[in-house]
Amino acid sequence: MARAVEKLTQKARDLLARSTDRNLRLAVTGLSGAGKTAFITGIVHQLQSVTQSSHPGLPLWQVSRDERLVGVRRVSQPDLDIASFDLQGALASLCASPPQWPASTRSLSELRLEIRYRPNSGLLSRFADVSTLYLDLVDYPGEWLLDLPMLRQNYAQWSAQVFAAIEPRSSCDSLQKFKAAAGAIALDKPLSDEQFEALSALYRDYLHESVHKQGYYFAQPGRMLLPGELEGAPLLAFFPLPLTEAEHQRLGNAGKDTAYGQLQRRYREYVSRVVEPFYQQHFARFDRQLVLVDCFTALNRGRSQFEDMAMALDGILESFRFGQSSLLKRLFSPRIDKLLFAASKIDHVTRSQQGRVLSLLRQMLGRSEHFARFEGCTVEAMAISAIRATEPGMVNTAQGEVEVVTGTELGSNDKLTIFPGEVPSALPGADFWQGQGFGFAQFAPKAWHEGEPMGHIRLDHLLQYLLGDKLS
Ligand code: GDP
Repeated sequence: MARAVEKLTQKARDLLARSTDRNLRLAVTGLSGAGKTAFITGIVHQLQSVTQSSHPGLPLWQVSRDERLVGVRRVSQPDLDIASFDLQGALASLCASPPQWPASTRSLSELRLEIRYRPNSGLLSRFADVSTLYLDLVDYPGEWLLDLPMLRQNYAQWSAQVFAAIEPRSSCDSLQKFKAAAGAIALDKPLSDEQFEALSALYRDYLHESVHKQGYYFAQPGRMLLPGELEGAPLLAFFPLPLTEAEHQRLGNAGKDTAYGQLQRRYREYVSRVVEPFYQQHFARFDRQLVLVDCFTALNRGRSQFEDMAMALDGILESFRFGQSSLLKRLFSPRIDKLLFAASKIDHVTRSQQGRVLSLLRQMLGRSEHFARFEGCTVEAMAISAIRATEPGMVNTAQGEVEVVTGTELGSNDKLTIFPGEVPSALPGADFWQGQGFGFAQFAPKAWHEGEPMGHIRLDHLLQYLLGDKLS
């Protein structure tokens, strides 16, 4: 009898454990170079190795501090139509000699982790000895979120917005070339597919030059430079036109078989076949979202680029304003309940400067007044480093002791010991930029071998915020 009861209890426990296995979809985004690939690589490494005795632990993550974490392993991902995050490739780059940073995010990818832990509260702790949380990490380019306004803009409005955004930038040859070619087409006559391809290629050359050579961030449409699975697809063969409102209106009435009419149609196709499906099939399924922001590269590049980055960040924030009345809420019912903005690569600066980076990020987020308006979603900001490439230290100088960071300079293999300079704790004004400017060094990753712990800054704090409540 006693055995039968025990057997029954075990069965009930198994059943409960199975029914309480939960799933959390955590999306990671940020503009190109923000640190998404390094983040996913670093966090998966920490999660998989934290239960090993050689690991220094993740003390700010409660389940780890309480020693309730049983183990974390990668398991088959749920969506077979999404590329797998290339964890092996990323770890191989870090293990290489000399070590390399992994290749950056260019498209959507995912991986699933099975986190087994001992619950310490609630029903679960009474019935299930060990519970499982399936964590799906989804990586995608933040540039794709910049397409959101297209859902409510027509072609003329979109064109005007693109040209208003790029106006403050210094001009470049490729923009002149595109404008000259676009100015030479008869917009009230039809255009061949080849001509659309050729003009879009010129527009793409311009985006390429402004982002990869001049260091700007805002590039629209979001898939032009990071096409993902749409590489080479005719869906991307369209471009904005620098016309006046009156010209847009006149051409809009000239019929759908004109070049202008074709452009309007191509624009609508892009919105309905690329932008909408992304929000419907992916964004609407995210439970939590991390947005990484690299402040250092933007500060290094200069005023115009920094302001462009802040503008692009504002654009990204739009996707997280899902108050009852928002377009997003009406169209896709997103369910994100926690949003975290993290200033990345914080190991670039000394400890005393890290708080300033966080205030700068907070200012950037608050400036747009969006920060306070994320209804139904908890928002937090942090400063982290996913894969720490430097060590902090002190050096004696004629002026007394100075805090420094030490690491290997990216590309040169030279050891660098530097005080990287003051980070502005608020949005830099004109005098800041007229001064000496910024010169944050780029560091190579430290030498690392499988089985060794990897350095990080505050990933445990981040895990507590994003996963803590799911593992209690
Ligand atoms: P992604 O485009 O968002 O995927 O950005 P990546 O993850 O590829 O990061 C871009 C670059 O930033 C890397 O190649 C590194 O040079 C640097 N980086 C990323 N994370 C860190 C970090 O935690 N510390 C340091 N020092 N550099 C980092």
